[in-house]
Formats: sequence, structure tokens, C-alpha cells
Amino acid sequence: MKKLIPVILMFLSSLAFGQTKGVLSDRFSEKKESEHFVLQWNTQQSSEKEIEEAAVFAEEVYQKLSELLGEQHMPSAKLIITFRGEGVDPETYKKSVPHVDGQGRIHLYRFESGGYLGALAHEMVHAVRVNTQPRWERFFEEGLASALAHYLYPENKSFARYGYPLDVVAGYWLVSGKGIPLETMRIQHGRLNLKCSFQTYVMREDFFNYLVVHYGIDKLLAYAYADAVGIIEAYPKYWGKTFSELVSEWESDLTRRYNAYEGAAQLADEYFKNTPVKYSRACEAGIDY
Ligand SMILES: [Zn+2]
Repeated sequence: MKKLIPVILMFLSSLAFGQTKGVLSDRFSEKKESEHFVLQWNTQQSSEKEIEEAAVFAEEVYQKLSELLGEQHMPSAKLIITFRGEGVDPETYKKSVPHVDGQGRIHLYRFESGGYLGALAHEMVHAVRVNTQPRWERFFEEGLASALAHYLYPENKSFARYGYPLDVVAGYWLVSGKGIPLETMRIQHGRLNLKCSFQTYVMREDFFNYLVVHYGIDKLLAYAYADAVGIIEAYPKYWGKTFSELVSEWESDLTRRYNAYEGAAQLADEYFKNTPVKYSRACEAGIDY
């Protein structure tokens, strides 16, 4: 019976939303459909060319994701993507970040040199999974989205790396002792994830990349689609080790990679001087967690 509930919910949500996963937003004047997507935008915020490029790229990501996850894990309805310009609030200057909402709609904002596309693969992983999993453990879902996006597009160095190597950026936090311990990040995900995003995104991505590189993508996917997904005690079943054992292995590996990276300290220094990270205070033990 328990297993039936998500199936019934999925059936009801597909009835409610019909052709799309989630309902179309009424705040956009323009709409374009491709094979697997409905794209929505306003002409003042986005150009025809940007949308055209995004539509082509979205189909490419979809294809790759479908090959990786299996077609059975792809949505039966079209995914909605909205394009919302810079996403800077004119009063508070607060910047909105690309995200997927509870209905599985992808909302994109232009971000640095990557424009709209830098976060698309990551967000698409969330969009195809949201409302289809027995549990939504957000630390794991973020790690999975980052690791799969990295696996498909290893050359993408968007948030929060701003073009700098992950070995250097994630390595800096760990080696300097200023990073948030992964276990703390996991347990306090809701409180720390966005508040300390420069730290959380790169370190978590590097950890899940480590699992892919050293244990294989199949183990990560097996856990991602297991009934036990998001249950920390289930890690040994998939990786043969507990979460904390894997974290210590990863820490040694990242320390080694950082130390072996020529000019790492200099690069880390440049990263903190030349990227938007300089406007942000790092979260600290004893103050933030
Ligand atoms: Zn995410």
C-alpha cells in the first residue's frame, strides 16, 4: 500500500497538470514549445536568440540525462522553464538564484558569463526527480544534481566557482579549516545551504564527484533510485562504507589534490579577490553553525 501512494500522487498530478509538469505561469507573455519543454519569457527580459539557444541546449541536456538515468525516470509531461532576466530586486538588490519549485518548474536567471544556461543541467536533475521520489532529502538531492551536471558537463565552471578549478576552490575551504564540515552541512542543510552557498555548493559537489570518480556513477544512481534514497544509514549498502567513512576518505583525497595543484594558494587568493565571493562573509563555526 505504501508504495501505491507515490504512484497515485503521480497519477493525480499528471491529471491536474495535463501536458506539462506543473502549471504554466501567467507572468510571462511569450511561450515556445519544444519536444520536451515549454519555455516562458517576457520580451523586455530575454532575447529571442537567448531563448532559441536555451531551447536547443535544454533538449541536449534532456537527451543526455535520459541516457544516463533511463527513460523510465524521465517525466511523461513537458517540463516548464521560465526565463526571468537578472533576477535582481530593484529595491533590495537581492539576487534570485536559479531553482526548481514544488511543481517541478525550472526558473532561470542570468548568471555571470554563463547567461541562462550555466545552471540548467543541475536544475533539470531536480525537475525530473521532484514529486517522483519516496523521500526528498535535500542535502543528497543537491549533491546529486551537482554531481550529475558535472558528469555531463565537466567543463562547466559556473556557480560557485566562477571559472576556477573545483580542486582549488573546494580544496581551499577544507585545507584552510574554514569550510563547513560535510556532516554539519547535511544535518543543517535548510539553514546553511543558501546562506553559506559559496561554501556548501562547491564542497558538496566535490564530495559527490569523488563518489562518482572512485566508486562509479552506477552506485550513485542505484542509491538515487532506491527505496532507501536519502536515508543516511543506507550508504554502506551502496558504497560499502558509512557516510562518515566516505567523508574522511574524500577529505584526504581533496587535501592531496589541493596540495598537488600547482599554484593552488595563489589561485585561491585570486578567487577571493576577483569573484562575487568577495562580497560575502564566509559562514563560521560558533557563529553560523
Ligand atoms: Zn540545486
